[in-house]
Amino acid sequence: MSLERQINVKTPAQIKIMREAGHINATILARVRELLQPGVTTADLNAAAEETLKSFGCVSPFKGYGQPPYPASITVSINDEMVHGIPHPKRKLKNGDLVSIDCGTIHEGYVADSAFSAGVGEISSAAAHLLEVTEGALYAGIEKMRSGNRTGDVSAAIQEYVESRGLQVTREYTGHGVGKKMHEGPQVPNVGMAGSGVLLRPGMTIALEPMVLIGTYETRVLPDRWTVVSADGSLTAHFEHTVAVTEGDPLILTVPQPQQTTV
Ligand code: MG
Ligand code: MG
Repeated sequence: MSLERQINVKTPAQIKIMREAGHINATILARVRELLQPGVTTADLNAAAEETLKSFGCVSPFKGYGQPPYPASITVSINDEMVHGIPHPKRKLKNGDLVSIDCGTIHEGYVADSAFSAGVGEISSAAAHLLEVTEGALYAGIEKMRSGNRTGDVSAAIQEYVESRGLQVTREYTGHGVGKKMHEGPQVPNVGMAGSGVLLRPGMTIALEPMVLIGTYETRVLPDRWTVVSADGSLTAHFEHTVAVTEGDPLILTVPQPQQTTV
């Protein structure tokens, strides 16, 4: 069945659970971000994420996903590695690296999916520009996540934001609906034409995830069958949020929620 047939519009109660999942996912990513220092291994980052997941009684939708089964709970992709880098106990972060962390959480049967990129120590001005443009492209896409718009409006906003700033955006990897499954419909490519695609309706929950490259937008997969790298070895970055379409403004689900107070 094509993904377009698997669009599951959520009820407010389901979105509330997804917000909780998003809060947990944001907490894990914040914990990993604190550890981004030279000398830390990518396996250390995964261990910290797993410990935090466990403290919430949650599991990762990444672990065991796909073929060959993905072996970790987060992906850690460094420099020319765009997405799906596998954590390894011998892979150490170095000063000047640009690291992309992608993390998912399953909470009460619902998935949150979010990613960020950040520098380790001092990074080049080209890397800083790449970070700024990739994060900006995510928010340009989120701004279009409004009832009555189409997925193509979101895709076109992301593409325009990136290309007008002199960078390239992936053709092969897309945003996606998310809910009980990590990948539902609709697909939301990072390039496209305004006015085309699937009509957005309140209750749709979609992970937007621009992946931006300094050189060519072409990529290849390493022999580990997971790690995706830029074809020309140039730097890449990746930002992602799970977002709900509402009657009004887009609602970002993968952010920390205000603390619950008990009476
Ligand atoms: Mg993700
Ligand atoms: Mg995703």
